[in-house]
Amino acid sequence: MSNITVCARFRPLSSKEKKDSRDNICISSLNSESFVFKEEKEECTISFDKVFYEESMQADVYEFLALPIVKDAVKGVNGTIITYGQTGAGKTYSVEGTSILECDEQKKGLLPRVVDGLFECIKSADELTKYTVKLSMVEIYMEKVRDLLDLTKDNIQIKENKMQEILLSGVKEITISDPEGALQSLSGGIVNRAVGETQMNVGSSRSHCVYILTVQLESTTDKRMKTGKVILVDLAGSEKVEKSGAEGKVLEEAKTINKSLSALGNVINALTCGPSAKSSHIPFRDSKLTRILQDALGGNSRTALLCCCSPSPSNALETLSTLRFGMRAKHIKASPLVSRREDMHAKKHGDITLTKDESCDRIL
Ligand code: ADP
Ligand code: MG
Repeated sequence: MSNITVCARFRPLSSKEKKDSRDNICISSLNSESFVFKEEKEECTISFDKVFYEESMQADVYEFLALPIVKDAVKGVNGTIITYGQTGAGKTYSVEGTSILECDEQKKGLLPRVVDGLFECIKSADELTKYTVKLSMVEIYMEKVRDLLDLTKDNIQIKENKMQEILLSGVKEITISDPEGALQSLSGGIVNRAVGETQMNVGSSRSHCVYILTVQLESTTDKRMKTGKVILVDLAGSEKVEKSGAEGKVLEEAKTINKSLSALGNVINALTCGPSAKSSHIPFRDSKLTRILQDALGGNSRTALLCCCSPSPSNALETLSTLRFGMRAKHIKASPLVSRREDMHAKKHGDITLTKDESCDRIL
């Protein structure tokens, strides 16, 4: 069993897709883990840890994908949730909901649920620990890391400390004491997120957005400190440049996005195909995205990947590309460790076990 959880989520057909496809869809469900994918004359069966079909609820996605990570974070284990997929596939809907300040309980996305979940876990935790929750929020746009909570910081440097933890130098961290305060800060950050226009989806996001919730645990008896982070990543669209009809600046944005997503794919390939974790080179430094996620994919972290897809036959090729990405990711194996600041042995690569790839050939 690998410690990356990979799920696929199919959103409902959009009204435009409904008109184009007369309600035809390119998948048929087998069960909650497998489906048949149909592309013109070909069909194949694809399985993930879980498949969320169009009628799935936001709460179901949270409970399966994020709740185990939230529970671990309050014990000092890092966790990362990544949404991947073409523009319009449902990444932001899954992360934020229709709006971060959404009042409709059913529509709330992963992010507000994670915030609620962290505070709930803290409330029911033992009294020997003092908890502090901090929030920061950055976007990676054209390979620059911008602080979404402080726009004056538009080129945040990524550093690594002695414990090989990844740090964002000088990033604004807001201490939050309740879910309401967190949502207010988050909504301010979301407004700052750069949006571009492509033919695929006006107002589509051209940046990767990274939300970091840090839980600091301090023992009231011996003052020992631990931290557990929950990182949520709303990736920019994975669609091919040609299809979006992009030009000029938008084309440059799209190329940069594709490059960083390829870097993410290469890191995943290196982790799954390398002869051994210790001897092989994992190219984390090839993009800002992979560098920020180094902890998440390579070591002391639990990772969950949500592959967001359109069910429309008109997007079948993009959907297949998203599903392939998820299938490659499934072969990462990493053991989560508790990150304890003073424990020099809790080095992140220590427990990674990687298998030689018997799998790449089997991936579609
Ligand atoms: P992305 O962030 O991947 O570009 P969005 O999350 O913005 O895509 O989704 C595109 C549109 O589809 C939005 O109008 C969104 O509300 C809608 N949508 C996405 N996923 C779902 C879903 N599971 N249920 C209902 N509507 C959805
Ligand atoms: Mg989006």
